[in-house]
Amino acid sequence: MVRNIFMLAALLASAAQADTLYVRAGRLIDTEHGIVLTDRLIRIENGRVAAVTPFTPPPAGAQLVDWASYTVLPGLIDMHVHLADTEETSDVAEPLFHSQEDIAYLGARHARETLMAGFTTVHDVGCFRAFADVALRDAINRGDVIGPRMSAVGAYITIPGGGGEVTGFAPDVKVPDDMRVGVVTDAADTVRKVNYLFQNGADSIKLIATGAVLAQGTEPGQQELTEDEMRAAVQVAAARGSWVTAHAHGAAGIKSAMRAGVKSIEHASLIDDEGIAMAKAKGVYLDMDIYNGDWIDEVGKRDHWPADILRKNDDTTEAQREGFRKAVKAGVKLTFGTDAGVYPHGLNARQFKYMVRYGMTPMQAIQAATVTSAELLNWSRDVGALSPGHYADMVAVAADPLKDISALEHIDHVMKGGDLVR
Ligand SMILES: [Zn+2]
Repeated sequence: MVRNIFMLAALLASAAQADTLYVRAGRLIDTEHGIVLTDRLIRIENGRVAAVTPFTPPPAGAQLVDWASYTVLPGLIDMHVHLADTEETSDVAEPLFHSQEDIAYLGARHARETLMAGFTTVHDVGCFRAFADVALRDAINRGDVIGPRMSAVGAYITIPGGGGEVTGFAPDVKVPDDMRVGVVTDAADTVRKVNYLFQNGADSIKLIATGAVLAQGTEPGQQELTEDEMRAAVQVAAARGSWVTAHAHGAAGIKSAMRAGVKSIEHASLIDDEGIAMAKAKGVYLDMDIYNGDWIDEVGKRDHWPADILRKNDDTTEAQREGFRKAVKAGVKLTFGTDAGVYPHGLNARQFKYMVRYGMTPMQAIQAATVTSAELLNWSRDVGALSPGHYADMVAVAADPLKDISALEHIDHVMKGGDLVR
């Protein structure tokens, strides 16, 4: 009997050991406190961080990932990606060249590229084929597809012909129904459509409050959804314990969305001083994609994108960067969102050097892409930091990103939930 109990205990111990993993971090960026720790041992149990201590050799026979010569930080978070869609091209009809099945496979590739670049969590803020993002999220969670943890919005809430529509066609051309699931005409319609998105698996809601740079015939500076429509969306989301973000370029649309109660603003390109003060006072997060304007300019000119789109890109790029600089100075909460999909997935980290160029310290830029973005997602207990309880989502870089933030463009290793994926 005693012998059997002993054997059982030994079996249990070895089973526990199988799910225990150690990581030695030469330098560990503590994103919660904004400091760097040296030579740490991270104990991981069942995919989550169990303890972080000064390094001492782990028990004999334990599984150890030796990153003694690396800087280790939490897996990065991009709050503005479009995984389940085609990448941007010169043709506004591009979304119509791809079936739902094609989009699913493209999404799987984009998810893998994003994860390999060190982004272990993303907020996917919309796809033209409704719920392609939800299906991708579920496939990743089942383990069928390799990719980051995804928070999905299901579809864009937009006005007819607005910034969230596939636009630019003759009036008698019919766009597929699944590309128009989030089109709303008034506040009551917004309540119905937002509920429909939640019923079908959306985690949060994305409003298109103003026109968009890349949607033909819409103007970034012009408000599209009314404040009543946006407030209706916020109320439905709140009742479900969720939240709303608003795509808004123009100053009036930005302020209207904030008055309606959104938790964050995407782009915020033409934000004015009053808008910055309002974001600060209300605690609204700004998710400003200050890199991709350069990409659109370079590739757009090379590939002859429509003149209308290049002009709108010029109108928003530098203005947005100046707004970002002011927002940093004012102490507004800033997340890391890039609009990957406008440029190729996997290049997300290119935005870091712009965030530093426009006023952040490297540590602030890293915190934007970890703790602050986790907070906006309501996922602070799971991601964005490597203190006990968080998923063992981490990246390792040989170069020091606090000396040169562009080091994050070349991630050497990626771990997600304790699995070494790169
Ligand atoms: Zn976008």
